[in-house]
Amino acid sequence: MHYRLCFLLVATLASAQERITIDAGTLIDGKGGFRKNQQIVIDGSRIVEIRPAKGKSTYDLHAFTIMPGWIDTHVHITWHFNAQNILVNGREDPASSALYSAENAYVTLMGGFTTVQSVGAPMDASVRDRINQGSLAGPRILTSIRQINNMTARPDPDHPASVEALREYVRKTKADGADLIKLFATAGMGAGGAQTLTDEQIQAVCGEAKNVGLRAIVHAISDAGVKASVLAGCTSIEHGNFVKDETLDLMAERGTFFDPNLLVIHNYIDKKESFPNIRDFKPLQDALEPTAEVFEHARVHHVKVVFGTDAVAGAHGRNAEEFIYRVKDAHEKPMDAILSATSVAAESLGLADRIGTIAPGYEADLVAVEGNPLEEITAVRHVVFVLKGGRVYRNTR
Ligand SMILES: [Zn+2]
Repeated sequence: MHYRLCFLLVATLASAQERITIDAGTLIDGKGGFRKNQQIVIDGSRIVEIRPAKGKSTYDLHAFTIMPGWIDTHVHITWHFNAQNILVNGREDPASSALYSAENAYVTLMGGFTTVQSVGAPMDASVRDRINQGSLAGPRILTSIRQINNMTARPDPDHPASVEALREYVRKTKADGADLIKLFATAGMGAGGAQTLTDEQIQAVCGEAKNVGLRAIVHAISDAGVKASVLAGCTSIEHGNFVKDETLDLMAERGTFFDPNLLVIHNYIDKKESFPNIRDFKPLQDALEPTAEVFEHARVHHVKVVFGTDAVAGAHGRNAEEFIYRVKDAHEKPMDAILSATSVAAESLGLADRIGTIAPGYEADLVAVEGNPLEEITAVRHVVFVLKGGRVYRNTR
């Protein structure tokens, strides 16, 4: 009897500690809804109830707007500048790489992003695992660990990779612990963005990814590269700056996700001196307008647009600037931009039933901002509170 009482008492204390309530002045649920004066009840790492606010709460955020923790589907968490503010492009000591990556993860979480997809470097996996163990503060990370391009798995410098070698490479990447596959179907913007893998090679990579249960996301700048990737059944198109309307229709028809990005272009242009490896900024400058237009066309053609910033050095922690570029330059509705970074992004990651929505059963990932981004999008710059998996990481009200 005595033992039983003690046990009950301990259990009650434990759940009392774990159960927290948060009052939200405005709650944006990540599914297109918003409500005033709500209370979110959280037990452990999960949301258990949403109810009208009443009584005293653990965290009174009635002066703020609460959203699901934001999701960035395209970052490079290891990229950073050195102490002289220049891109580290090549070798450095492993301790610096590790510490800068941890720092990037930390500032990303503080900036309101509770999940990111990093695409990808071998170090990503270590950062991901340390964060999952709870010993490092950072967003939940999904990573491709490496990138597949036209130099990957070649038998020698004069011959392209065989379809079988690429399939093998996908299987190895999965075995090494990747959460997804990242491939380059085209060259970069500066190099013209033309298709660099054959249709058969793209089919091999995306097809094998599917076979082993991984998603495949594709860097594709030109329309031809995008089209080949959509037809190959790849999961998501990254960038797609010059995609044509008929290819957007194809994406809508096939359910291909689309991840155009503006912050990355601005980040390069605004921090020119930090990127001495880029000789000509004109292609980037010239891509700004077509990229903003691509967002508008994608919406008209009902494509599922996710939220990826392609955050490289200089952009970590500022991921939310993408919201502002989208609304101000690409004329997105604030609610559409928020949906992109919440439930739609979650769906693209295969996590639609776990994150990206404030509802019972979902992970308790929340971000609170000063002001209301539905009225003034720059509110996303004013993050005051970040909760990930029920744990408070930022509380700077
Ligand atoms: Zn990228």
